[in-house]
Amino acid sequence: MPVMIKRTFFCLVTVVSIISISGCDSGGSGVPEIVGNVGYAAIKPLGAFFPRDEVRTVKPVMQLSRTVPWDWQPPASRERDWKAIIIHHSVTHNGNARVFHDFHKNVRKWDGIGYDFVIGNGNGSGNGQVEVTYRWRQQVAGAHCGGTPRNWANEEAVGICLVGDFTKTPPTTGQLQSLARLVKFLQSKYRIPSSRIYGHGSTPGYTGGTMCPGDKFPMTAFKRML
Ligand SMILES: [Zn+2]
Repeated sequence: MPVMIKRTFFCLVTVVSIISISGCDSGGSGVPEIVGNVGYAAIKPLGAFFPRDEVRTVKPVMQLSRTVPWDWQPPASRERDWKAIIIHHSVTHNGNARVFHDFHKNVRKWDGIGYDFVIGNGNGSGNGQVEVTYRWRQQVAGAHCGGTPRNWANEEAVGICLVGDFTKTPPTTGQLQSLARLVKFLQSKYRIPSSRIYGHGSTPGYTGGTMCPGDKFPMTAFKRML
């Protein structure tokens, strides 16, 4: 009997050892595999810098447009009825959404960055890179064109800021191409005619007298790109 117990114990140890070894090795290469929608959910958007970004809705892959970046799509549950588009320049040589967010929040004492989108010029972010801010993700009113009747411009117009000082130099070709792509998307989605695309200073009802987006922003030529 003692011999049988010994053999049984030996067999058990052997079986457990084999299971343990094969179990540890079942992960293959050891590289974590990203499946399904996890890839999108796992991506940290630039908006992750923004404190209110955590309520962003991540849409299933199948619902995403194949023609525009996934984060241009607003959450359907809180989408606003946008009526116009207002273009700004940053009046800085460089910058990005995070820099402007910090400035607007800490210096201006606003909730955060005033624009819905920022388009980089290669200094501080990519040339033509489109950054989406929390204002767009959460579909809240902007803080980019105050002083219009009933604050209509902030409530109903999408604010897009291009990095640069267009009183001195024009926007880059990359910026204009990205802007055209973004504006065409917005026009199509909200049926906004080109006549309702304004430079900040030309916004109807605005009396602030700003030069924004600068006399070197080629509005007429830009509208021909649409
Ligand atoms: Zn402006």
